[in-house]
Amino acid sequence: MTLNATLQAARDMGVPVRYAVMRRLAFLQPQIKHLEREIWGARRRIERSRDPLVKALTESFIRDQEKELRPLKREATALLNHVNGKETVQTPGGITPEMIDQARQYPITSIIDFPKGRHRCCPFHEDSNPSMALYDNHVHCFVCNRSWDSISAVMELDAVGFREAVLALQ
Ligand SMILES: [Zn+2]
Repeated sequence: MTLNATLQAARDMGVPVRYAVMRRLAFLQPQIKHLEREIWGARRRIERSRDPLVKALTESFIRDQEKELRPLKREATALLNHVNGKETVQTPGGITPEMIDQARQYPITSIIDFPKGRHRCCPFHEDSNPSMALYDNHVHCFVCNRSWDSISAVMELDAVGFREAVLALQ
């Protein structure tokens, strides 16, 4: 996928571009970390091994992993440049109370969906019984004993700060 495909998908689905970009990054970053860890581990195996066959096989494994990693890193960089470029244009002075209100009003069901009504399994703990309930525009989990609004849900799901979550929900 490319940056433009993500931007197009955001337009098609009517979700804020920044939100789509952050979701795509949240999808890419664990894969990038995983591949980087694999490559690092394989390099350690080459250093430790004296068997030329093991070394050759491991080197070919590293080449394959790097081939997979390169397009992911390219895409993540393009996504980050896009949102950072936008951020400086749109919010030179940071976020406003209006932006925070708008972010709070972003439908929480577009962030955590409730396909079967007002209850679902909680995405924040290992849940086999639907412990999460939907209220006006926030959710509550009776096992975590916590509530989330649209902003805190994005902060936790996407591992971003308050400001980034507010910007993502514009
Ligand atoms: Zn929970």
